[in-house]
Amino acid sequence: MGRSNRPRRAPKREQPEETSQKQVLFGAKRLEMKRGVEYTVQTHSGASDDPAKTWTCPGCHILIQRGTPHVVAWSEDRGSDGRRHFHSVCWQKFQGTLL
Ligand SMILES: [Zn+2]
Repeated sequence: MGRSNRPRRAPKREQPEETSQKQVLFGAKRLEMKRGVEYTVQTHSGASDDPAKTWTCPGCHILIQRGTPHVVAWSEDRGSDGRRHFHSVCWQKFQGTLL
């Protein structure tokens, strides 16, 4: 059994791309009116540091999978504590009031 003893030198690839692992979670803010209520709307990349983090869309009551870009919206009077995560399409269809 001839064993070729070739030293396997894996090319060492130094990756200088380790700049910022932090993903940009939020996109630009915008304002949208729904039934006379002004909402602050922001896109969310769906990324999260917390693996247990999920969101339930108030529009369809279905879980928003992590990694799914979606929309975060809140009305002025509730402030950002009242933020809700919507599927993008659900937000477009949403015409109610956030509870
Ligand atoms: Zn939805």
